[in-house]
Amino acid sequence: MADYEVAIIGFGPVGAVAACLFGQAGIRTLVIDSAETIYDKPRAVALDHEIARILQGLGLGDALADCAEPFTDSVYYGADGQVIKRLTMLPEPHPQGWLPSMVFLQPKLEAAVRARAATFPSVTIALRQTLTALSQDADAVTLDIATPEGPRQANARYVIACDGASSPTRKMLDLALEDLGFDEPWLVIDVLANEKGLAKLPLTSVQYCEPARPCSYVICTGNHRRWEISLRAGEDPREMEKPEHVWRLLSRWITPEDGTLWRSAAYRFHALVVRDWRKGRVLIAGDAAHQQPPFLGQGLCQGLRDVANLGWKLTLCLRGEAGDGLLDTYGSERGGHVRKLTGIIKHIGGLIGERDPEKAKARDSRLIAEAGGTIHPMPRQDLMPALDAGFISAHAHPARGTLFPQPWILAESRRQRLDDVAGGGLRLVIGPDADRPDATLGHALSAIGGTMVEIGGPSGLIECDDVVRDWMVRHQARYALIRPDNIVFGVAPDAEAAFALIEEVRNGFR
Ligand SMILES: Cc1cc2nc3c(=O)[nH]c(=O)nc-3n(C[C@H](O)[C@H](O)[C@H](O)COP(=O)(O)OP(=O)(O)OC[C@H]3O[C@@H](n4cnc5c(N)ncnc54)[C@H](O)[C@@H]3O)c2cc1C
Repeated sequence: MADYEVAIIGFGPVGAVAACLFGQAGIRTLVIDSAETIYDKPRAVALDHEIARILQGLGLGDALADCAEPFTDSVYYGADGQVIKRLTMLPEPHPQGWLPSMVFLQPKLEAAVRARAATFPSVTIALRQTLTALSQDADAVTLDIATPEGPRQANARYVIACDGASSPTRKMLDLALEDLGFDEPWLVIDVLANEKGLAKLPLTSVQYCEPARPCSYVICTGNHRRWEISLRAGEDPREMEKPEHVWRLLSRWITPEDGTLWRSAAYRFHALVVRDWRKGRVLIAGDAAHQQPPFLGQGLCQGLRDVANLGWKLTLCLRGEAGDGLLDTYGSERGGHVRKLTGIIKHIGGLIGERDPEKAKARDSRLIAEAGGTIHPMPRQDLMPALDAGFISAHAHPARGTLFPQPWILAESRRQRLDDVAGGGLRLVIGPDADRPDATLGHALSAIGGTMVEIGGPSGLIECDDVVRDWMVRHQARYALIRPDNIVFGVAPDAEAAFALIEEVRNGFR
C-alpha cells in the first residue's frame, strides 16, 4: 500500500487549499514545501466570490471575511484622461452569497489556510522538504525528498504539483508550457500609505491607459496601495526596483512622507499554460500550470479553481466511485477555461498597454463610441467564461458549465448561506416551481453520491432574496444538477429530464 493517497508538492496558497480539500474528504495526504514559512508579502490582492465560496466550504469563510474588503471600481482613463471603461461589482443580491470581488491580504489568508490544513488528521505537513526527483509505475509515484536530516523517499497513489511558476516538478516531467503571447516587464510596488498619503490618492482603483507609461493603481485592504507600472524599453528591471526610482515613479501621486515602501519587485507578466495537465499519476495546478498578467486579479483564482476542480474528481477515483478517466476531464476543463480567460486578460492588457499615441486615441474613441457616448460600469464577473467542455451534460444549455448561485436561506430564524445549511458535494437542486421529487429520483441520486436540495415550495428551504427562483425562471429550468465545485452539470425542465442528467453522471463516473 502506498504511504499516502495524495502527495502535494508545494504548500503555497494553491497547495494549502488542496490539502484542506483532501483533508476534509479524509484522504491520506502528504504536503511538502521547501520553505518553512509563508511568503510574508502579498502577491495576489484580489479574489472572486467563486473562490470565497470554495473557502467557505472548507470552513475558511470567517478567515476570509477577516482579511477581505470590497474591491473598488476600476476606472480606465484614456490618453487624454477621459474615462473609457469602468469595471464594477455585480449588484445585490450577490449571486454567490459573497461580495463578487474582494481585495484581501494574502499572507494573512495563507496563514489561516495552512492552520486549517493542519487540523485535518489525514493531512501530514512536512516543511523544509524539497522534491528532488520522482518516478511512477502503474500503482504509485515515488518521491525523492531532500530534508535537513538527509534524503528520504515517500510514495503516493497520486501527486499534485503546486510548486509555483518555476515548478521543478513540471520540469522533471518535461511538461511543456505553451506561450499564449504576452511578455512584458512591469514593476509592482506596494505602499503602506499614511493619512496624509491616503488623502492624496484616488478613491477608486485606476487603470491609466496612457501610452507614455501604462500603469495600474489598486486600492487594497486597509492602507495598502499597489501600483503596477510598465517598464520602458531600455529600463533595467533590477535598477528600477530601487527606492529612488520607485519614488520618482510614484511622485505623481505621493512622496516618501506619505507612506512606507513595503516592497517593489519587477516581474515579467506572462501568459503561459501547460499543454498537458497530467502525466500518468501526476497532475499539475496553480502557477505551475499557468501564468497570466494580473490585470483582472485572476492568477490565484485560477489556481484555486484548478484544485477545486481536481479535488472532488480525485477523491471519487481514490474511493473507487469513479474511474481514472474522470481525471482526464481535469485538464480539458481547466485548460479550456484558462485559455479563454487568459485571452480576455490579454485583451484588457492590450487596452491598458497601448503605447502608440495614435492607436491609443483611436482606442479611446472606439470604446466611447461602443458605449454610446457614456461609459456604463461593467461587472467584472460578466467577463468570466463558463466551462464548455469536460464533465458537463451533453445537452447544450446556457446555464451548463456556469456557477450555480448560493442564496441566503432563512434557517433557525437567521440568514445563512445555502452551503452552510445544505452542505456541498454533488447536489440536485429542486427549484420552487418543480414537482416535489418522488423516492425513485432520490434513490438514483444517492446511487451516484448525490443529495437533494429543495428550495421554496411547501417543503423546501426558504430563500431570502429569490436568487434561485429568478435563476430557474431565467434559465427555464426546474432542476439543476450541481457538481461539488458548484459548477452546473446540467439543468432539467422536469423530473424525467432530471433522471436523464443523473444517468449521464453515472455513465461519466464509469
Ligand atoms: C504582481 C502579482 C500580482 C498578482 N495579483 C493577483 C491578484 O490580484 N489575484 C490573483 O488571484 N492572483 C494574483 N497573482 C497571482 C498569484 O499571486 C499566484 O497565482 C499565486 O500566489 C500562486 O500560488 P501557487 O500556490 O500556485 O504558487 P506559489 O505561491 O509560488 O507556491 C509554490 C510553493 O511551492 C514550493 N516549492 C517549489 N519547489 C518545490 C520543491 N521542489 N519541493 C517542495 N516545495 C517546492 C515553494 O516553496 C512555494 O511555497 C499575482 C501575482 C503577481 C506576481
